[in-house]
Amino acid sequence: MSKSELEELAQQISVCEKCILHKSRVKAVPGVGAVSAAIVFIGEAPGFHENQQGLPFVGAAGQYLDELLEKIGLRREDVFITNVVKCRPPGNRDPQSEEIEACRPYLDRQIELIEPKMVITLGRFSMARYFPNAKISQIHGQPRKMEGVIYYPMYHPAAALHQPSLRRAVEDDVFKIPELLAQMDQMAESKRPDEAEQLSLF
Ligand code: URA
Ligand code: SF4
Repeated sequence: MSKSELEELAQQISVCEKCILHKSRVKAVPGVGAVSAAIVFIGEAPGFHENQQGLPFVGAAGQYLDELLEKIGLRREDVFITNVVKCRPPGNRDPQSEEIEACRPYLDRQIELIEPKMVITLGRFSMARYFPNAKISQIHGQPRKMEGVIYYPMYHPAAALHQPSLRRAVEDDVFKIPELLAQMDQMAESKRPDEAEQLSLF
């Protein structure tokens, strides 16, 4: 819960050259939000606008994310929003595994410093961090509690923008968030993601 350490980390990210993505970036996108956030959202990677501004989720997907947060009475300032990789993949291609690996310590440290109650993954790249072989269509909206933290996989808001059929799922999943935070103490602990596979509050 240290603001200065988070800022120092953001500073390191802004000049990082640990993977090839640094070559084409305009600005690195470390993430934004409250140091004391109860919820950390993890997306995929910066896109065009994020790369220009150095801020996460400021394009169309970001606008939709803001709308989703508003539905449950949250503002961007109440949560922390970041990505699996902090620099934009050229042409918005998928991040490669070596880029995700190179960037991993930054995300690990952010989560360590913030100590959220809930980590919400947006899309399959951040989901894979916690649920390596899972299918998002099968596990979205199913909370898993591990070591005192709820991990909650959701579809990426951009996917819901492109496929209107997913919107209902995304919105249903969002509406469960306040209840999950409130009930977190009663949720059973699971040791491993595969053991936790069966665990769902709903
Ligand atoms: N999509 C993401 O995954 N992250 C962003 O920051 C913007 C769009
Ligand atoms: Fe460094 Fe991550 Fe950017 Fe790669 S994506 S250059 S590891 S900050």
